[in-house]
Amino acid sequence: TAAAVEELITPQVPITYTKHLINGQFVDAASGKKFPTYDPRTGEVIAHIAEGDAEDIDRAVSAARKAFDEGPWPKMTAYERCKTILRFADLVEKHSNELAALETWNSGKPYEQSANSELPLFVRLFRYYAGWADKIHGLTVPADGNYHVETLHEPIGVAGQIIPWNFPLIMFAWKVGPALACGNTVILKTAEQTPLTALYVAKLFHEAGLPPGVLNVVSGYGPTAGAALASHMDVDKLAFTGSTETGKVVLELAAKSNLKPVTLELGGKSPFIVCEDADVDQAVELAHFALFFNQGQCCCAGSRTFVHERIYDEFLEKSKARALKRVVGDPFKKGVEQGPQIDVEQFEKVLRYIKSGIESNATLECGGDRIGSKGFFVQPTVFSNVQDDMLIAKDEIFGPVQSILKFKDIGEVIQRANATRYGLAAGVFTKNVHTANTLMRALRVGTVWINCFDVFDAAIPFGGYKMSGIGREKGIYSLNNYLQVKAVVSPLKNP
Ligand code: ADP
Repeated sequence: TAAAVEELITPQVPITYTKHLINGQFVDAASGKKFPTYDPRTGEVIAHIAEGDAEDIDRAVSAARKAFDEGPWPKMTAYERCKTILRFADLVEKHSNELAALETWNSGKPYEQSANSELPLFVRLFRYYAGWADKIHGLTVPADGNYHVETLHEPIGVAGQIIPWNFPLIMFAWKVGPALACGNTVILKTAEQTPLTALYVAKLFHEAGLPPGVLNVVSGYGPTAGAALASHMDVDKLAFTGSTETGKVVLELAAKSNLKPVTLELGGKSPFIVCEDADVDQAVELAHFALFFNQGQCCCAGSRTFVHERIYDEFLEKSKARALKRVVGDPFKKGVEQGPQIDVEQFEKVLRYIKSGIESNATLECGGDRIGSKGFFVQPTVFSNVQDDMLIAKDEIFGPVQSILKFKDIGEVIQRANATRYGLAAGVFTKNVHTANTLMRALRVGTVWINCFDVFDAAIPFGGYKMSGIGREKGIYSLNNYLQVKAVVSPLKNP
């Protein structure tokens, strides 16, 4: 695999959009500053991007405010908004190959994954939200007394949205889709590692007829641009996806400024529970996918593989064999399952956790090191004999490091699976419907995948219990994040 990393494929995509998109125009940063964005295969610079700070956020908020208060978007018919979003989805579909290449170039994820699953899912998400645009309505309420009472479900206003680098396009869709379908205007702050595809699709949105100021995209760093957005007095709602640590920071900034409501999609340490009746080969494959998918860079990664003691030894041998077979290399090559980690910080963090696993006496079954000398490639790594109190069993590693733990009975595994400050997701692998039902109800998590994992249909709500977040995205539940409810009361008889 090391050799494969050396011969790189050059993506045939011109980098056209590097400036902020504010009020329908590409503009330089107010400060004139730029920051580099990198190719994680090599650590080389792809392009220099306008670096946003408080002043750029301010401009973008003004544009979004004006578009909300005066602009056609919230006042347009819902059907017009629906059609604009559908035209956008069609345009993205037309540009899918270029967008998939750009996504892989900037994030390092396998091209086949970008092209065959993420771009189609992006389009699907927007078509799903377009479908909601003209189906949002309130209630008539049978209140006591002689009153006519109704509720209006109105857009919440100007939405600030901060997204991470692990799924740049999918996170764009989860955030921008419901906000625009409900008639809001948006300022999106992309992750500093992956600014490219959001600018490209935002441009397509304007080609599809989105009025200026409705969707503004600002690139830049968290403590500057991100913090300015979270604490802005004229932003009516904040949505954030990222680490639990940063989630606390933005929640505090929102509270200290104007008490804007905040939805948070944060970290996880999801259990993947393999019960004693499981088909071992299938369980190994699914547990492998649950952890290693997207270079292990998923907030919901199945990062604690609990295996029943009766099948533990066989499961371990086969998991190790599977990890050793995992194809790591240039993500543009066919058949490559794993590309590089996103950047040098994440790469070094993953290697530090591997060291910690070794030092805490977990058994390193395979992997444990980088691949090659260039870029941020990490060997698929498997630890066995992992104990609940080890750092690798408690912290989110966000890399290709599988931790396998042994359990004896269902009551015990429920208690251990729940003994974490996180509660994002869980996997359950069993043929027994009673075991599945017991676990599904006992696990304190936002998603339980039974005999499957990482199923991300547009209609399925996603979000966390406990310190994995606040609120839900996708599905019907995501609309509440972007709507206000107005109660309207009037007497029934003439005064
Ligand atoms: P990671 O550590 O994986 O990069 P973060 O939670 O720090 O995850 O980043 C997720 C998003 O939050 C990125 O867009 C990042 O720029 C932004 N961010 C980071 N720090 C702050 C902050 N202090 N205020 C607002 N946004 C931030």
